[in-house]
Amino acid sequence: MPFQIRFAKIDLTEREVSIEDFPEEILTKYLGGRGMNMYLLAKRFRPRMDSLGPENPLIFGTGFLTGCLNLGSRMNISAISPETGYLGDANMGGDFGAELRYAGLSHLVIVGKSKDPVYLWIRNGDVQIRDARHLWGLDTVETQRAIRRELGEARVQVACIGLAGENMVKFAGIRTGLKSTAARTGLGAVMGSKHLKAVAVRGTEDLHIENPQGLLSYYKELIKGLMERKWIQALGRLGTPLMIALGNTAGFLAVRNHQWTSVGEAGSGLVAENLDRYSTGMVACWSCPVHCRHRLKIRGEKDKEVYEEGPEYASVGSMGWKIGNLDLESILQVVELCNRYGLDAISTGSYIAWVMELYQNGIIDEKTIGFPLEWGDSKSIKRIIHIIAQREGFGDILADGYFARGRLPPEAEQFLLQVKNLPMEMTDERLTKSFALGMATASRGACHMRSRPSLDILRLPSSLLEKLYGGEVDPDFTSYRGKGRMIWWHEILYAVCDSLGVCRFMTVFSSPNAPQYKEFNDLIYLSSGRRISEEDLKTVGERICTLERRMLALWGMDRKQDSLPFRYFEPVPEGPAKGHQIDLAGFNKMLDEYYELHGWDENGRPTQEGVKRLEIPL
Ligand code: SF4
Repeated sequence: MPFQIRFAKIDLTEREVSIEDFPEEILTKYLGGRGMNMYLLAKRFRPRMDSLGPENPLIFGTGFLTGCLNLGSRMNISAISPETGYLGDANMGGDFGAELRYAGLSHLVIVGKSKDPVYLWIRNGDVQIRDARHLWGLDTVETQRAIRRELGEARVQVACIGLAGENMVKFAGIRTGLKSTAARTGLGAVMGSKHLKAVAVRGTEDLHIENPQGLLSYYKELIKGLMERKWIQALGRLGTPLMIALGNTAGFLAVRNHQWTSVGEAGSGLVAENLDRYSTGMVACWSCPVHCRHRLKIRGEKDKEVYEEGPEYASVGSMGWKIGNLDLESILQVVELCNRYGLDAISTGSYIAWVMELYQNGIIDEKTIGFPLEWGDSKSIKRIIHIIAQREGFGDILADGYFARGRLPPEAEQFLLQVKNLPMEMTDERLTKSFALGMATASRGACHMRSRPSLDILRLPSSLLEKLYGGEVDPDFTSYRGKGRMIWWHEILYAVCDSLGVCRFMTVFSSPNAPQYKEFNDLIYLSSGRRISEEDLKTVGERICTLERRMLALWGMDRKQDSLPFRYFEPVPEGPAKGHQIDLAGFNKMLDEYYELHGWDENGRPTQEGVKRLEIPL
């Protein structure tokens, strides 16, 4: 099979499947993964489309290099988001993407709605729509097992929803394996709305690599360099929770719905090393030598011994300090519960934190919720997760996420900290101004994955920063100077990464010397024989960012939505970041610089000239 990017269009209403190749011109403009997903979404885009309606396309897209020897093998899933009403997109690791590639497909565009629950079975280019009535109601782990048993193939990879997706909880995710989830923006609810329980895939076809020997030698060198870095070694030993201690010492944790930013000594139980007690070893996404997550053995529901993978810094934070829970074992259990139900742990934690603060302030009471909801009470946390996923009682209200505010007292809304209807995450960005700008401008709503310039906390020399970013950037992370440039630069780089299937941890997220455009170009050439200049690759990133921005503009969004919740403009009351806040004038300066570099107008809207130059299809 030649190296190609090919998609299957599946209409669940009509039960029709067709397979098409992307024209070469579209391939070079969007590559694959998130870029191609955005192109496919734009082709079907209507601002008033119902996110839970049959016309909303659910798009699975593997990176251009997913399945090759690559820096990770990730993929994106996209649609109009039920959680926000705007752009839905989530990146997912694991083995599913590579398997899809070996089955001869890179993208799936799923439209329509099946009358009864179904799942897709994809094997070497053949796509079948199969009955899933017997799977409806199973959790995400049981579903994967049941499908493997039914198909009689142990190596089948399955991406599926749990009860949360079936019940169209607006922040349900799509899960594969024991950890990897396309978590944010509620794509599991889109899957549930289509009565699509799972996508199962097995591929045994060869992926034609243009220069296999050359790719192997190049990859080995690249990986050798990466694996010698201390940060990557620490990631492979401790996973992303290694960042917890730093966050607590510096003061950038979103404690109790961002009321504080550090838990001080009380957080000592959450340090990454404590996971060793539960860990049976480290595991990785397909072909990744870093292996940044633990395989854990824990006591789950009803004290049953269960295996789990992770946890990420993000899920420890969201089910930990954000809701006042500092007990590691309890955190692992509630993360596992979210995973089984197929809930996005970040949004789930954020909505629980919101309601806990409402309870703290007497805005809602025990009668409304059905039980007391004190910070850190692990019993109540489990209880509320159950009723959200099952849409029972108060859980049915909270299952609507941002849209739950209409069913609560008017004072409730201000405590729901969000950007573009997506709740803030586990980090408080008042200290680090570039991080704050990135949250405000991320195209899918409050999200660190679109642009986080982690380097900003390293206080690197200004000369190095200037060389990397092509302009002046202040090495002080509390300064606003040059941070618009930083976010612009990272947004474009990460859009390219998401189109290639490259993991953040293998690029400039981790180190200024980590692989970026030159190395990506070499990998593209050795894998596919296509020569793309560094400038052209940057233009791909620019095109993806501007296309996403164009969709936001068509939804009526502009500068007003590139903002932050009220708490960010108030000083941190105590702890190591005491007194830090976002200053509106400084924030606006960053925003102006960021818009200018993207070539958007002063309101953050793409210009006609930019739309034309980048050949945006909207
Ligand atoms: S570094 Fe971690 S998240 Fe990234 S591809 Fe490797 S195992 Fe997956």
